[in-house]
Amino acid sequence: MKHMKTVLILEHTEEVFEKLTCDVCGAESAWDENWSSKDNEKALTTVLLEEEESLPQGGQSTQTQFHICPSCFKNQLTKWFEEQKKNKATITTSVW
Ligand SMILES: [Zn+2]
Repeated sequence: MKHMKTVLILEHTEEVFEKLTCDVCGAESAWDENWSSKDNEKALTTVLLEEEESLPQGGQSTQTQFHICPSCFKNQLTKWFEEQKKNKATITTSVW
């Protein structure tokens, strides 16, 4: 007779963060969404299209995102935007 029993298998695989790379130059960041290499600094960039539909029975969303390092953001993306309509980026600073 072949006896079977149910056992809990704890091994599994899942997606975990490894590194962030710039979609323009390939630069790497060891932090998720933070490009700074120093513990006491933060450098975040966002190029994101978020589309969401919310209905009474449920909803859906789609996020299209480019990960751009601060250098490419300043030296390539910002210049490209400025060339399109001669507009300047909205820059907000905070001091605390
Ligand atoms: Zn880059």
